[in-house]
Amino acid sequence: MSFIPNEPYIFQSGKNQGKAVSQVAINNFPLLKHMYRRINETGSSKKNRLHVQLEWLMKRIAKTKPKMICPVCKRNPVKLISVLGNDRYGYSISEGFVCCEDKKCRERLEGLALGRNNRFIIADFSSVSIFRNKTDQRRMINLLKKIYGLEGKLTKERAFNFFLEG
Ligand SMILES: [Zn+2]
Repeated sequence: MSFIPNEPYIFQSGKNQGKAVSQVAINNFPLLKHMYRRINETGSSKKNRLHVQLEWLMKRIAKTKPKMICPVCKRNPVKLISVLGNDRYGYSISEGFVCCEDKKCRERLEGLALGRNNRFIIADFSSVSIFRNKTDQRRMINLLKKIYGLEGKLTKERAFNFFLEG
């Protein structure tokens, strides 16, 4: 049976003291990924509570369901974000360039790229790690919050329930 935590894991010390690990998953996925990698490298046979909750979050991220409906077909939930740009000069990441998986919708956004090569990114919080610079990461997080209906105050409970309910 797979593990389901019954309460958010709260950091007791360090830079994120008082924050829940699920809040970090939403507001700073690259940090969560780093923690997860480090905790796996330590290779302790007995997993602590943080380790178990990180594992759970990593699995749950892909299962969360976008609330925003595809602006192109106005039928299916958003699944992809079309971005233009590069690591050096940054990316344009905006609400006007999101769509579902439907081929026609993807083609519409490719058309809007006007001959430039756009890149489709899966609209979930783990995709924040694709971007190198903080400005792009911040833009991506803000857009994902809109897509998932997570705007406004993100309490520990709200962040935890988001992953719990998916
Ligand atoms: Zn669509």
